[in-house]
Amino acid sequence: MTARDAFATPILHALPPLPYEAHALEPAISGRTIGFHHGKHHQGYIDTLNKLIGATPLALLTLDELLVETAGNPGQATIFRNAAQVWNHNFYSRSLRPRNDAPPPPVLSQLIHAAFGDLPTCRKELAAAAAAQFGSGWVWLVQEAGTLKVLSTGNAAMPVGPETKRLLTIDVWEHAYYLDYQNRRTDHVDAVLEHLINWDFAADNLA
Ligand code: MN
Repeated sequence: MTARDAFATPILHALPPLPYEAHALEPAISGRTIGFHHGKHHQGYIDTLNKLIGATPLALLTLDELLVETAGNPGQATIFRNAAQVWNHNFYSRSLRPRNDAPPPPVLSQLIHAAFGDLPTCRKELAAAAAAQFGSGWVWLVQEAGTLKVLSTGNAAMPVGPETKRLLTIDVWEHAYYLDYQNRRTDHVDAVLEHLINWDFAADNLA
C-alpha cells in the first residue's frame, strides 16, 4: 500500500464528462449508443468501484495507484477489473472525437509511416485486431520502446509495461456498437477508424 497521510480524504471516483455532445459522433456512433455507454456502462463501473473500495484503505488511492496496487492480486480481481474498466473508458472517450478528417500530427504521422508504411495500413491492422478479438475487449495503438504497435486485450485488461505508452483505444465490447450495428463489429470499427479517431490525443500520449 502506498504510504499516505492517515487523515487523507477518500477519493470518490467520478464520471468524467464526455469531451463532446453524445450525438456528436453520428452517424458512425449514435447518440443513443453513447448515452448508454457513457451514462450506464461507464457510470456503472464507477459506481461499482466506489462501492467495492468504499470504507477500505484503497479509497485513498488515485485510479492509477489503485490499478498498480490490485493488479495480479487474485483476492482483488473484482476491484482491479472495475478500476481498469473505469480507466479504459476514460481513455476511450478521449480517443474519439467528432468527425474530423485531419491527418495525424506530423510527429505521430512519422511514427505511423515508420511502423506501418502508411495510415491506411495502420487502420487495417487496428481493424484486423478488432475483428480477431474473441469476445469482449479492447484494441490499442501503443508505443513500445519507441515503435508503434497494435495490441488487443481481453475484457478489462490494458497493455502494461515499463516501455509501453498507450496512445489510443477502441472498445470492442458489444455494448459499444450493438444498438447501431448488432453483430457487425467490423462495420462499427471501420466507421470509427475512418472518421472518429482523435489523432491529436494519440500524439499527446507519445513518450
Ligand atoms: Mn465499453
